[in-house]
Amino acid sequence: MSTLHEDLGVTPAINAAGKLTVLGGSRLDEAVIAAMGEAARSHVVMDDLLAAAGRELARATGTEDACPTTGAAAGIAIAVAALIAGTDPARIERLPDAGDAPDEVVLQKGHAVHFGAPLTQMIALGGGRPVEVGSVNAVRPEHLSAAVTERTAALLYVQSHHAVQSGEVPLEMVVAIGRAHGVPVIVDAAAEEDLRYWPATGADLVVYSGGKAIGGPTSGLVCGRAELIAACRAQYGGIGRPMKVSKEAVFGLVQAVRAYDGAGGADAAGRAAAQRSRMARLVARLDGLPGVSARVVRDPAGRGIHRAELTIDPEAAGRDAAGLAAELAAGDPPIFLRGHHMAAGRLAVDPRPLTADEEEQVVARLTGILTGAAPVAESDPGDEVVECRLVVTEPAGLHARPAAVFAQTAGRSAAVVTVRRARPGSGPGGGSREVSARSVLSLMSIGIRCGEEIVLSARGPEAAQTLAELAEIVAPRHR
Ligand SMILES: *Cc1c(COP(=O)(O)O)cnc(C)c1O
Repeated sequence: MSTLHEDLGVTPAINAAGKLTVLGGSRLDEAVIAAMGEAARSHVVMDDLLAAAGRELARATGTEDACPTTGAAAGIAIAVAALIAGTDPARIERLPDAGDAPDEVVLQKGHAVHFGAPLTQMIALGGGRPVEVGSVNAVRPEHLSAAVTERTAALLYVQSHHAVQSGEVPLEMVVAIGRAHGVPVIVDAAAEEDLRYWPATGADLVVYSGGKAIGGPTSGLVCGRAELIAACRAQYGGIGRPMKVSKEAVFGLVQAVRAYDGAGGADAAGRAAAQRSRMARLVARLDGLPGVSARVVRDPAGRGIHRAELTIDPEAAGRDAAGLAAELAAGDPPIFLRGHHMAAGRLAVDPRPLTADEEEQVVARLTGILTGAAPVAESDPGDEVVECRLVVTEPAGLHARPAAVFAQTAGRSAAVVTVRRARPGSGPGGGSREVSARSVLSLMSIGIRCGEEIVLSARGPEAAQTLAELAEIVAPRHR
């Protein structure tokens, strides 16, 4: 029997890019799928469902009340509409024409992002008029205060990797400005992981996407002050109607939030550590492929996400980052890497949506494209890790000829060897990066100098013997 995927001719993709709407948001776990099935099999009074789900979502976010939506974009439109029209039926039915109600929504210029559609358009859908203040990368509190007038309906703050990350007025100050002027503050926290932190900042309404960090179906929520949430729900009799959330999505969202909350906060550090070591293992396998230097990077927006970042040297790789991404996407199955920094020559593997099997396929495809060969199998994860700390006595450090000999020796061994600084924070590479011993460029890039202490870590066959050989290169005993 053929599947609907086959009938439609759309191949399931391997998503190594992140929780992206263009790739269908999240892969749902079985409990969420079951919850959506349960909803699908019966009728329910939707107002009752929205209210009950709202109470559950409020508990998970530590807020007074919450309103399910079709997504964060709808959440923004509905939140803006709620602050303009309240629960007044005449005003609700007149939107997006705000009439004589205050309708200006003040935001920092660096927050007027495009997340697949322009954020300011969502404000306009809700009847608001966006007022962008300051410059893209420089906004001062005075810019915000000066823009708040009797025409102001809300201040909107965008917490996002899409937003400019420096030179912006921090949320605490935006909340203080809102308080001082009696103007409510909306936070767009669409892709954020912490469901309690953002509402606890004192914002009046916080918007989340259900299909991103939460791992739910295409859905979202607005949470916050009870009377404002009542006004959000009331918009389903107006501009919210074409953004009507289904009973299936509400059930799926509630189940996903339950599971997320249960796995929750306490486990966040453990999740981040597991991701970090998983990506370190992947980096050791990809670093040193022709034209690829790989490292583990933390999410630039400060979320606890660790990714494998691949910097592509077009000359050595035979194609630039964009070309490589296009080849991966054109394959069968299509593979999508994270391309936010593609123009700068960097691609990333995001572990969150990726199964172990899919990760193997990513390695195999990259290896195939770049070397024309089958991938080096990862050593059995059960293999013991052998580590060795040593002080580099080779005068050139891990540079030039010693680095080349080191990489050659590591390349001949069946063991997977990585190198890191024993005391991060010193030296020009500065950091805690762990790189593959097989890549000369990576070795040189971490800038280990004579006299520095390093840690060699090896797994797989010949691990101990390989470490002894490598140690002899950078810390020869007979010199
Ligand atoms: C993804 C995103 C949205 C839209 O979320 P949907 O749930 O897809 O509607 C809005 N704002 C930001 C900052 C986002 O990252």
